[in-house]
Parts: sequence; C-alpha cells; structure tokens
Amino acid sequence: MRLLWILLLVLAGSLAGYLITRFERSAPVIQTRVTPIFLGTERDHQFYVFDEGTGVEGIRVWLRKGELAHELFDETYPGHVLTGATLKVQRRVEISLRPKELGLTDGPATLHIEARDYSWARNRSQVYIPLVIDSEAPRISLQTGLTYVRRGGAEAAVYKINEENVTHGVEFGDLFFPGFPHPGDPSRQVAFYVLPPNAEPGQKPQVTAIDRARNRSMVRVPIEIIERSFPTDRIELSEAFMEEKVNELLGSTRGDLLSSYLKINRDMRQENTERIRQICQESSPDRLWSGPFLQLPNSKVGARYAEKRTYHFEGRTVDKQVHMGYDLASTAHAPVLAANDGVVVFADRLGIYGNTVILDHGLGVFSLYGHLSELAIEKGEAVSGGDRLGSTGTTGLAGGDHLHFAMLVSGVFADPLEWFDGRWIREHIESKLSNMVLESG
Ligand SMILES: [Zn+2]
Repeated sequence: MRLLWILLLVLAGSLAGYLITRFERSAPVIQTRVTPIFLGTERDHQFYVFDEGTGVEGIRVWLRKGELAHELFDETYPGHVLTGATLKVQRRVEISLRPKELGLTDGPATLHIEARDYSWARNRSQVYIPLVIDSEAPRISLQTGLTYVRRGGAEAAVYKINEENVTHGVEFGDLFFPGFPHPGDPSRQVAFYVLPPNAEPGQKPQVTAIDRARNRSMVRVPIEIIERSFPTDRIELSEAFMEEKVNELLGSTRGDLLSSYLKINRDMRQENTERIRQICQESSPDRLWSGPFLQLPNSKVGARYAEKRTYHFEGRTVDKQVHMGYDLASTAHAPVLAANDGVVVFADRLGIYGNTVILDHGLGVFSLYGHLSELAIEKGEAVSGGDRLGSTGTTGLAGGDHLHFAMLVSGVFADPLEWFDGRWIREHIESKLSNMVLESG
C-alpha cells in the first residue's frame, strides 16, 4: 500500500514537472547586435537563437520599410508540442540584406527577428534592428591641382566630401594616410601623404572615402613624380661593435655573433618599424606645429634619408638595409630639442633606436629622435619647439654619439630635409593649410 502511494507521488511529481516545462514562461533568446545597420548594396547579418526550455520551434525575419514588409527568412524546426523540439540546439541564422533586389529605396527601415519555442504558450521573442538604407557613395571633390612630389617627399591633398561620418584619406598602394578636418576651413579635409622611395613608377595616390554603409568612392590625385637617386653607404662591421650591440640589444648571442647581429639588423629593425607605424596611427586632429622643423643645432649630417646601406664582414656582403632617417652628429651628449610643437606619444627604449622620443604634431605628422643617452620628458607631455627632450648618445644600433632624426606621416617615413626647409613648408604646406584660394604646388 505504502509502495503504491510512493509510486503515485513520483508519477504526480513527474507530471507536474512535465507540465511546468510545457508551460514554460521563458521565451527564446535572440542573440544579435542591435546597433543600427547602415546598408549599402549588400550586407550579411547573423544572429543566434536558443531556448533552454522546450526548444526553438521557428524563426522568422522580415524587413519593414514604410508600409511594406519583405520576408527574408522563415524556418520551422521539427518537434511536437507534447515533447518539445527534436533537437534542442542553438540555431545560427545568416541573412543577406540586399535592398536593391527587394526594390527598396534609400531611407530608414527596420529589421524584425522573431523566434518561437515549443511550449503550449508558444512564447515568442522579437528584436527590432534599425536600418539605414544608403546606396549613394560619398562624393569627393578634389581641391588641389597637379602636384609635383619628390620621391621620398611629402604632400597634402585637400578635398571636400558631401557626406558626414565618412572614413577618408589618401591611399597609396598598401599605404593609407587618414584625412583630417582642414584647419582653415572645416568644410574641407586635408590628408598628408608620402611618396615612398620604393613606390612603383605607375602607382598614383588617390583620395578614398567610405561611408557607414560601406559605399566607397575614389578620386585620383594628379601628381608628377620628381625622380631622384638616393645615396649609398658601405658599412664595415667589426667584431667589437657587433659584440657590444648584441649584448645591449639581445642580452647574449643567439648562435654565432654574425647571425645574432643580423637578427637585430633585420628582424628587430622590422619589428621596430611596425611598432613605430602603430604608434603613429593616432594623431591629434589639431595642427600643433608651425613653420619649419628645427634641425639639431651645430650638427653635421652623418647619413641621409633613404640611404642604401650594404653591410660587410670579413670581406663579404652580409646584409642590405635602407636608412629611413637623418643622422646628425654634434658634440657628445648634446641637448636634443623638439623640432616643433607637439605632444610626446613615446619616450622609452625602442630596439635599434635605443632611447627614443616620438612627438605627434597633429594631422598625421610625427617626428622621431633616436639613440638618446637620457630622456628628459615623459609620454603625454606637451612640448614647444626648442624644448629639451634629452641628450644625444649611442643607445640602440649606433656606432658613435649622434641623433637619428626621422619625420613620419601616419607612420610612413618622409624625407626630413623638406620639413627643415622654410620655403618648402610655405609652398607645399602653408599654401594648402591656409583658407585662401588654393593653388597647386
Ligand atoms: Zn640613423
């Protein structure tokens, strides 16, 4: 008798449990981004649906614009109201949004996602995602005419864009130089760019603009390249020098002395270039500098920009590298001065450059100071042209006491000689940054 009661109780318990599940109250969970989608010609949107109770019964997606609704997705999954979904799995849905194929015009719309479960109550969840259909690419009007650019030199392109919230700048091969609001006229944009020493002869810069709907447009920047040859130098490596630098930069030899040295001269150099490029990705939207950049006072030029170096050891060529800065030698531990107004964005050790300072001058323009014996400033400090940053030295891959000075535009090394030159600044920079009528230069 007692056993029967227990059996009955167990049965009643399971029935209650079963009914609770059938009558589950929790609706399916729709996992999706709900931020507005800017829709150009095509865009995929994916989301996930799961239901912990009776499982997902069906999913429906439609796009509503004004009075019209367009169904994009409708699926029902196997199962029964008494037993729930056959497969209680998370459903992944990917839909392709193509407004043109649906005959939709530009303007706001909504994406509706609905999911139902297998409970008797048929719980449903709904998500609404705002859409902005925009099939128009931004229009760029270039304001600078034919420009003469020296190989290795920098230039500026000024342009207008008829849309807001656009990513824009000058593209040159794989390089991208972001544009900034023009300091003299906020209705215009300016992007500084560099013609790299190794640029292919046929390669031309272009202004590109991409809006939030990923519509892209581009305009060729007409330039005439002024060709030039770059100096060459032969460097004889001594065992003593390599030993000193391997100890300083690697700590100990890895393999033999020469291969350790080459690790520094090749791999570390490349890592450092990449690091510098990263540091120079974010620049102040304000122009912080003015006038020509200051060259280390009373200094002698040791090596020039884009100098092609061959390295020799025991009578054979062991490496080739290109020197992307200016080496300026004065007296030992001479004060290193900020070349122009800016903000310290880096003040630390940096591989082959030793103790290094990088200043952001705004609008993508940076200057770099390497091999310093000591640093007198810290990251984040604002400096004026002529402020002391530290002292010259031999840290990093330097033989004698000197300053390695480099100019960069959005992380790409430019010829510092132009930036030292007041006339070049006036003709190539000031002419494009003033709000007067623009001329090509
Ligand atoms: Zn150097």
